[in-house]
Amino acid sequence: MTRLSLVMLVVALLTPLVSAAADSAMMLTSRFAVKGDGEVNTYIFDDGETVIVVDTQRLESLAADVADIVGDRADRVAGVLITHPHPDHVSGINVLRRAFGAPIIGSRATADELANDTMGYLALTRELYPDDSSAEPLTIDQVVADGETLTLGGFTFEIHELGHGESVTMTLYYEASRRMLIAGDLFAVGHTPFLLDGHVLDWIRQLDWLAETFDADVMVYPGHGEPGALGDLVPAQRTYLEDFVSLVAAANTDRVLSHKERQTIVDTMNERYPDHPPVAAIPDLLELNMEAVDAELKARGNQ
Ligand SMILES: [Zn+2]
Repeated sequence: MTRLSLVMLVVALLTPLVSAAADSAMMLTSRFAVKGDGEVNTYIFDDGETVIVVDTQRLESLAADVADIVGDRADRVAGVLITHPHPDHVSGINVLRRAFGAPIIGSRATADELANDTMGYLALTRELYPDDSSAEPLTIDQVVADGETLTLGGFTFEIHELGHGESVTMTLYYEASRRMLIAGDLFAVGHTPFLLDGHVLDWIRQLDWLAETFDADVMVYPGHGEPGALGDLVPAQRTYLEDFVSLVAAANTDRVLSHKERQTIVDTMNERYPDHPPVAAIPDLLELNMEAVDAELKARGNQ
């Protein structure tokens, strides 16, 4: 796929948020994504004084496009928040650090995975896109931890660090006064999710925790797909994951997933969830997800 064939999607919404100080609550929210397989969100939140950027895209060229959109607001960027260390969210770290001169902010677990690449995803991405990946290491400048409060200009974020689920870790950033939750890949809205980390059961529990912890009207900004109310997004994501786990578990009572059973699961998911492009440009993501869930269920002795 050439750069020219990519369709850039930039959604700019002026989001009026109700608060005691209505004027200061106005915020320009932009979502940058590239349509198609592997579409991933970068958000730009701008309250008129402070700009916050979330995640950095899969390729350095796409991060450069994000920097172009921020444009002459670069000196108002107070920080680049990283949700987790998967390559589609971190590959542009060095481009955006240079463009904005602002700190790259993330958790210790994210910093460690960037350093150690225990899953091998960063090496794989460099191998696939040698001319569009950073030759320099990807690093975090400012480490945040669970329970901390992070203030960046007019934004105050509560940090919630979740353990292994969709990724080795997931850092959530909750802005209480604006009732907004940056949730990373806890949500792949309208997409086939990435289950290869092998912790889908933990992911489902994290969604339950989310529903217990935050109100249904909190606006969720997902790593993939369109933002939406937590009360809509949690049940939808949970249902998708549970459907998939149930299908794999049911097909696997004899401990073997036959070719026919695999095909039936793919067909069933495609029927129940049509037009769900994969979150990563990985051929046969559904089949790989199946292997991962199968292995996880066997490892946990659930069959
Ligand atoms: Zn992702």
